[in-house]
Amino acid sequence: MAVISFKCPNCDGELIFDPSSQKYKCEYCASLFSQEELDAMRPGQTKEAEANGQEPGTTEDGPAGQTEARDESGEAHDGEAVSYTCPSCGAQIVTDATTAAAFCYYCHNPVVLSGRLEGKYLPDKVIPFSITREAARKGFQEYISKKKFVPKAFFNKKQIESLTGVYFPYWHYHAVLDGKLQADARRLRVWRVGDMEYTETKHYSVSREGQAELDNLTENALKKANSKLAAGVMPYEFEKMQDFQMGYLSGFLAERRDIERQEVEGRMQGEMRSGAERLLRETITGYDSVSVRNSGFTPEKEDWSYVLFPVWTLTYKGKNGKIYYYSMNGQTGKVYGELPVDYGKAAAVSGILAAVVLILGLIGGYFL
Ligand SMILES: [Zn+2]
Ligand SMILES: [Zn+2]
Repeated sequence: MAVISFKCPNCDGELIFDPSSQKYKCEYCASLFSQEELDAMRPGQTKEAEANGQEPGTTEDGPAGQTEARDESGEAHDGEAVSYTCPSCGAQIVTDATTAAAFCYYCHNPVVLSGRLEGKYLPDKVIPFSITREAARKGFQEYISKKKFVPKAFFNKKQIESLTGVYFPYWHYHAVLDGKLQADARRLRVWRVGDMEYTETKHYSVSREGQAELDNLTENALKKANSKLAAGVMPYEFEKMQDFQMGYLSGFLAERRDIERQEVEGRMQGEMRSGAERLLRETITGYDSVSVRNSGFTPEKEDWSYVLFPVWTLTYKGKNGKIYYYSMNGQTGKVYGELPVDYGKAAAVSGILAAVVLILGLIGGYFL
């Protein structure tokens, strides 16, 4: 399986994807390169090298600033931890079966396990990080400073250093649906003549036909992902999705999917249909009551894509052993957190609150 590390054409240092410039940055000489510039330096070689492969375990200067190592013995069965050879130092890199980008444990250089993203696992699209580590760190500090009852240990520096940029896999669905809907609607009129009350009910049969385009339905594609965390940082600006490039992963962690489309397809199509039904139903107005008799939807167009979305995340193990999460959308900066509460601190404050309420109650009683 192939492992890529992206090397600076000037100094051979490590290139990582830089969220603020959206280019590749050398950590040593600070040079910046666009994807086009890297491609232009050694045109046409990227695909060639990937197609031909290399001898197991060899490391060799690759195309477009890449150093690639192939390690056929590293081929894994699903669900097994497996080892790769680091192209920079030759050490073994042991990973989970879904890891697609990581750091070498020994030389700390970023590595992209491109072999994990071949064939059907090659993502269609990616939203690259645009929030820098520094911005994510500031956001985290602001977030916890606004929260009360957070234990002191949560603020320590080491904790904040563990902030990690991760690309998570998702299924993205876009569809255009032709829909028909029939409904029974009523209009009531009530009037009085002397002691008599009259009610007139008019029944209408209403039908609607229309085309609904619904975009940007996404579903988590990784079993071990925390679903609250994944949903909490939504939505992304999906129109900014890019065609996938391995280089975007350099300097981050990345996971590949282990949930197949068939597992989520039915549920996502169902959601799409009920969304389309709601849109059609909302066009029926001016009645006192409406009940939908039947509806039918057929997809005119459907697009599925396998995508990677960026998240800054930090996990914290509370005293009770429970794991807490903080995460930030790596594109928009939207924050989601689940923070531990220090019950000692919380109890002291609620005691004061109760006392204040009791005193106010007594004063109120006095004046009454
Ligand atoms: Zn350099
Ligand atoms: Zn290494």
